[in-house]
Amino acid sequence: MSHDVYIALGSNIGDRYEHLMSAIQLLREHPHIEFIVSSSIYETEPVGYVNQQSFLNMVVVVNTSLSPRVLLEATQLIEERCGRTRDVRWGPRTIDLDILLFDQENIVMENLLIPHPRMWERAFVITPLMEVYPDLYATHLKQSIKEIYRALPDKEGVRIWSPEPAEEEFEPTANSKDTLKKDLPSK
Ligand code: ATP
Ligand code: MG
Ligand code: MG
Repeated sequence: MSHDVYIALGSNIGDRYEHLMSAIQLLREHPHIEFIVSSSIYETEPVGYVNQQSFLNMVVVVNTSLSPRVLLEATQLIEERCGRTRDVRWGPRTIDLDILLFDQENIVMENLLIPHPRMWERAFVITPLMEVYPDLYATHLKQSIKEIYRALPDKEGVRIWSPEPAEEEFEPTANSKDTLKKDLPSK
């Protein structure tokens, strides 16, 4: 049986984009995880433990035959392989993978709560989630994701982000070529 799963990714140490991409690559390589789609990447101000670098956050959608418990083991292994260590709770991390939703299930286990209990109050989760799951209705809150989003504080700290173009991809525009030509000393 296959399950629709929403996973939140976050990174705020070192090459944050590289960490997100490595985690996605490892999800894609997993034999029992089918990668469906990802949200945009957002740069977000830290909340909670605020004395740290800003984060890159995104949400990905996967389909899997794994049970919630085995999926958590898989995501924790990916965190480890991307260099995650746990020092300060809510502190800096190379990568964090949190399972937000697993079909419509409510899962209460000692080490796994789904829906993720803190997701609804986090603009850095709800903003990318709304992109990939605009029809989500939170039954227990009796609210659609759009209503939840509207009521959220700290939304201005969550901004869409894209990687700087790599140097080799950089194409000077026609105008700058013209300028370069003009600036060359005449023979
Ligand atoms: P937060 O959960 O508030 O986002 P965090 O992601 O920094 O904090 P972690 O150190 O990554 O917290 O995880 C702490 C524990 O949370 C893990 O050992 C894991 O067993 C547990 N956990 C409970 N529910 C979930 C979930 N839905 N997804 C991922 N981990 C979970
Ligand atoms: Mg987290
Ligand atoms: Mg986590």
